[in-house]
Amino acid sequence: MMGETMKIAVSPPIQVGGSLFTPEQLATIGAALGTDAKIEMTPFKQLYLEVPLEQQMLITEELRRSGMEVHPAGFVTKSLIACNFCKGAEEAGLEVARRLNQSIAGIETPMPLKIGYAGCALGTSEPLLKDISVVKMRNTYEIFVGGEPKGLKTSIAQSLVSGLTEDQIVSVVTTLIQFYKDNAKGKEKFKKFIDRVTLEQLQQLIAG
Ligand code: SF4
Repeated sequence: MMGETMKIAVSPPIQVGGSLFTPEQLATIGAALGTDAKIEMTPFKQLYLEVPLEQQMLITEELRRSGMEVHPAGFVTKSLIACNFCKGAEEAGLEVARRLNQSIAGIETPMPLKIGYAGCALGTSEPLLKDISVVKMRNTYEIFVGGEPKGLKTSIAQSLVSGLTEDQIVSVVTTLIQFYKDNAKGKEKFKKFIDRVTLEQLQQLIAG
């Protein structure tokens, strides 16, 4: 009999090639969880693993040692939903995407938040369907906000700011997340939130 359980979110590192698990990593997951565990494939590129509460720390360490990332599940920012970096690590901005992922994954938020990254304007990772997205445009970066693919009132993200340098990305995105945390009304969705506070106010916030 399993006692109390909790869910953890597991993903491979942000890398050239995209969301690739190695056979060893999948074997590690299987061995760590045992035969009855639930493993869920989420639509946001994380696996949700149901683990016994008292083994959570141990399993997390094991998965991390095997090169996977482990974050909380639920009402948090998901790990960065990035593209496959098919244009190569440098051209597609792999380093900045990794830094961004480290800074944003697993932050508690009023509603789950999806943050995307695309290494070029072809945007094969569907950046305009994410709450917040960074798109690399040759040598600068553009940030989009307010993508909402769920339900029947869908929306495409709008451009918030363009011409950013690599060094500005993390601070702009974390500022947006913090502002949402501080000012959302209850469980207000990010898209509804930015409609209420307006794009202009967000632009002033990040310019200041
Ligand atoms: S967004 Fe651009 S760089 Fe990234 S996988 Fe798609 S085509 Fe390649």
